Amino acid sequence: MADRTEGADLAAGVAAGDRRALARAITLVESGRADHRQAALALLGRLRGPGSDAAGRQALRIGLSGTPGVGKSTFIESFGLMLTAQGLRVAVLAVDPSSARSGGSILGDKTRMEQLSRDPRAFIRPSPSQAQMGGVARRTREAVALCEAAGFDVVLIETVGVGQSETVVAELCDLFILLLAPAGGDELQGVKRGIMEMADIILVNKADGGLEPAARRTMADYAGALQLLRRRPQDPQGFPKALCVSATTGAGLGAAWAEMQSLAAWRRETGHWDSRRAGQARHWFEEEVRQGLLAALHHGSARDRLDALGAMVVAGSLTPEAAAAEMLASLA
Ligand code: GDP
Repeated sequence: MADRTEGADLAAGVAAGDRRALARAITLVESGRADHRQAALALLGRLRGPGSDAAGRQALRIGLSGTPGVGKSTFIESFGLMLTAQGLRVAVLAVDPSSARSGGSILGDKTRMEQLSRDPRAFIRPSPSQAQMGGVARRTREAVALCEAAGFDVVLIETVGVGQSETVVAELCDLFILLLAPAGGDELQGVKRGIMEMADIILVNKADGGLEPAARRTMADYAGALQLLRRRPQDPQGFPKALCVSATTGAGLGAAWAEMQSLAAWRRETGHWDSRRAGQARHWFEEEVRQGLLAALHHGSARDRLDALGAMVVAGSLTPEAAAAEMLASLA
C-alpha cells in the first residue's frame, strides 16, 4: 500500500466514485499499522489537498442519533432509498463505540438496510471493531472525507445515542438529527439535554397506525421543549424543529428532507456552513495533536522518563504534582 503507483490508483478510484476503491481506502484509514498510516495520510493528501479535483467536493453530512430500537436502520433504509431514487448518492457510516463489547458491528448485521445496501447509488460502511473513542472519531472523520472525495451527495453518520459519540458526530456533521420513538406518559424522559441541544431537527418516528396519536403528542412536547432552548443565531425562524415521520410507511420523510435542505441552504447563504466547517477543522486539528501527544508519552525517552518519575512517586521521594511538573517541563 505504501507503493506510490498503488496509492495513486487508489486515489483515482476513489475520486472516480468507485465503491470498491472507497471501501479499500476506508480500510486503509482504519488500520493501526504505521506504514498504513503513512499511506492513508498520503491518500488523504492526494484527495483532499490543494490541487486535487476532488478536494472541493462537499456532501451534506447528516448526523443521526437515537437509542437502539427507535428505528434508525429502518429510517436510513427508507430515507436513503428516497434520496437515491432522486438520483442522489448516499453513504452511510456508523459511529459505534460499543461495538467492541457486542463483538461486532451493529451495521454489519446483514438484515439491516438490505435494499439500500444493494442500491448502486448507496455505500454502507459498518462500524470498525476497534472501538476506542479517539480512534473511532478519527476513522469516521477520515471516512467522511473519503466519501466526499468520492462524490457522495449525502453522508449519513449514525450513532447509537450513548452520549460521547454524539459529541463526536456533532463535530463531524452539517446537520444533526435526533430520532425518537413515541412515548407515553412522562415525555422527554431519557433524552439528555445536551443531545437535545445539538439537534437541528427532532424526528418522532413510528407515527403510523395506533402509534400515531402518541407520536403527535410526543412531537408537540418536544416542539415545546425546543422553544425553551436558546435559539441559535445561525438558524432561521422555527429551528430547531420537531416533526413526525414513519420509517415504515415513508410518511413525512419528504417533508423532513425538505426541512433539512432548507436549513442547509440557509446556513450556506449566511456563511454559517463555512464557519462551522472551519471550526470543526480546527477542533480536529487540536484533537489530533492531543492524541499524538498522548501516544508520544508512551514511546521512547518519554516512556522511560514517565516510568522513572512514576517510580519516584511510588517511593515517596517526589510528590505527584512535582513529578508531573517535571514531566511536562521535559516535554515542552
Ligand atoms: P434501530 O435499533 O434504531 O436501528 O431500530 P430498527 O430500525 O432496527 O427498528 C426497531 C424496531 O422498530 C423494528 O421492529 C422496526 O420494524 C420498528 N420500526 C422502525 N421504524 C418504524 C416505524 O416507522 N413504524 C413502526 N410502527 N415501527 C417501526
